[in-house]
Amino acid sequence: MRPEWNEAAIRRELARLDARTGLHGAQLPISFSRAKTILGQFSAEGEGSFRFSTVYFHDPTWPVEEALNVIRHEYAHYMEHVLYGKGGHGSTWKKCCSAVGAVPQRCYSSRVARLLQGKHEQERALSGQCDSYRVGDRIEHPRFGAGRIEAIQGESVHRLAVLSFDTGEKKTLGLAWLHQNCRKCL
Ligand SMILES: [Zn+2]
Repeated sequence: MRPEWNEAAIRRELARLDARTGLHGAQLPISFSRAKTILGQFSAEGEGSFRFSTVYFHDPTWPVEEALNVIRHEYAHYMEHVLYGKGGHGSTWKKCCSAVGAVPQRCYSSRVARLLQGKHEQERALSGQCDSYRVGDRIEHPRFGAGRIEAIQGESVHRLAVLSFDTGEKKTLGLAWLHQNCRKCL
C-alpha cells in the first residue's frame, strides 16, 4: 500500500534509520516547500532540519522507492554532518548512504527533477483522459474489432479495462493503452 507522505510518515522512516545508526534524525524539525527542482534538503544550521517538496511528496503517482530514497539521501547528509562534520556528496557521505540504504548519487540535479516533473504531468494528463471511460462504453480495437468495456479496475494510469469483444473473446487491457490505440465508438 502507498503511504501518504505527511510529516508523520517521513518521521517514521527517519526513526527506522535512527534505529540503525543510533542517531536522532527523527527528532529534527521537518518543513515542506513547493520546490520543483529540490526534492529534499538537509540544513545543518542550528540542530539541523529537513525540508521536503510537496510537489513530489504529495503526488500520489510518485513511486514509494523514490520517496524513500530522497528521505535516506537527506538522512545521509544529516549523518555525515553529525559523524564527520562535513557536507556535500563526497566519500564520507557515500559511506553514510550505504549505511542507510540510499543510492549514493547526487540525484537532485534540476535535470532529473524536470524529467520527473514532466513524466508526472504526462501521467496526470493521461489519467484524466482515462477518466472519460465508463463501463458500457464501446470501443474499436485495431485487431479484435468492436467490443464493450465490462469493468474498469485499478487507479490512475495503471487502470485496466476488462473487454468483451463482439466475437465473444474477452481481454483485459491497460486503459491508457486502450485510449491511445483504440477508437472510442460514440
Ligand atoms: Zn544531496
